[in-house]
Amino acid sequence: MVNVQYIRQDFPILGTTVYGHPLVYLDNGATTQKPRQVVEAITNQYYTTNANVHRGVHHLSMVATDMLEQSRETVRQFIHAGSASEIVFTRGTTESINLVASSFCQQEMRGGDEVIISTMEHHSNIVPWQLQAQRKGIVVKVIPITDDGILLMDEYEKLFTPKTKLVSVTHVSNVLGTVNPVSNIIRIAHDHGVPVLIDGAQSVPHMPVDVQVLDADFYCFSGHKVYAPTGIGVLYGKREWLDRLPPYQAGGEMIGTVSFEHTTFNQLPYKFEAGTPNYVGATALAVALDYVNQIGMENIAAYESSLTQYALGQMSQIPGIRIFGPTSPSLTSQVDKDSIDKSQLSIVNCKLHRGSVISFLVGNIHHLDMGTLLDRLGIAVRTGHHCAEPLMHRLGIEGTLRASFGIYNTREEVDALVSGIKRVANMF
Ligand code: PMP
Repeated sequence: MVNVQYIRQDFPILGTTVYGHPLVYLDNGATTQKPRQVVEAITNQYYTTNANVHRGVHHLSMVATDMLEQSRETVRQFIHAGSASEIVFTRGTTESINLVASSFCQQEMRGGDEVIISTMEHHSNIVPWQLQAQRKGIVVKVIPITDDGILLMDEYEKLFTPKTKLVSVTHVSNVLGTVNPVSNIIRIAHDHGVPVLIDGAQSVPHMPVDVQVLDADFYCFSGHKVYAPTGIGVLYGKREWLDRLPPYQAGGEMIGTVSFEHTTFNQLPYKFEAGTPNYVGATALAVALDYVNQIGMENIAAYESSLTQYALGQMSQIPGIRIFGPTSPSLTSQVDKDSIDKSQLSIVNCKLHRGSVISFLVGNIHHLDMGTLLDRLGIAVRTGHHCAEPLMHRLGIEGTLRASFGIYNTREEVDALVSGIKRVANMF
């Protein structure tokens, strides 16, 4: 069970006011707030054990190095990777995808080779491939979606050709909330001998993830969306792939030996961690993962699912509202049984067929106007294209409002959102 009132006490910012109203923070898809435990871990490390990692023989440096490697182990356990050497610390999802795009394309792709992405990708899973298209002449192919925001799996299968070298798709859409059938996506790609990168930015904070059960070749996420600080994230890669790929950036720590004639590279994962890593961020990420683990990812998934269902029910009664993405529980039954990941079974059991993200528009009120007025009531929602402009084009809109929930959100806050929307709508 999730005791939300108890959890909220760990997040001082939730007790603040905005324009005289209690803050209702519903922008968790963009970033989450941080619990005391995470903030204190950062302060403690700087006050008591700060030193650069890896290169020192002195006590503090060894303690800091141990903490970094323990954090890597915490991440490994959290996403159920086989080995800590398969966990690369990055700045976040964006850097993880850029790393794969750059190293994979350099090594594995030639002009005319193809990468498959989907219509619902975040720009950070579109533009890195477009850069490679410009640089190397690779071709980007796109899986289409239904009007409800569900991937067309038959069309996906048809995209494969002998030139397909990689599939890169999001686990959960940051706009539609769609939970994609990633097991199925991966199985189909593997049947064609093609590896898969999964963007887990919107899944890791909200549901249990097992990269081995999924059989993902690469999987990435951002710390700041899972109650950790900004500037730290993760790329998981199967050892066979990470071993095979060339380094992404060059500098200290990623080398074996260096001479002006010849340089060798370090073992995994250090080959991909050039320069001083964000070791304090890594500690804080591990503390954040311990924090959500204590609540239980299954409990978090169940709680957020019921909150999202409640919100969908309440919001759908607002006159003139248009909600994007899968809204009907019956859509779950359209999902092929095979496509339901074991790691998602508990979520499916609790009827979550979508993540805790609700994008909407009301009448012909501009999303920016409504977002600005909701803000005046203390309600923080995101407005705009959500870094998914191609998806906006597909939906035939410029942007939406988006409410996205975290472990500390309550039904009362959903009620505040609903009455805020009604109040703002009445002003137009
Ligand atoms: N992918 C998805 C699905 C996202 O929601 C986001 C963040 N909005 C990103 C990638 C990029 O994450 P970051 O900015 O933390 O690198």
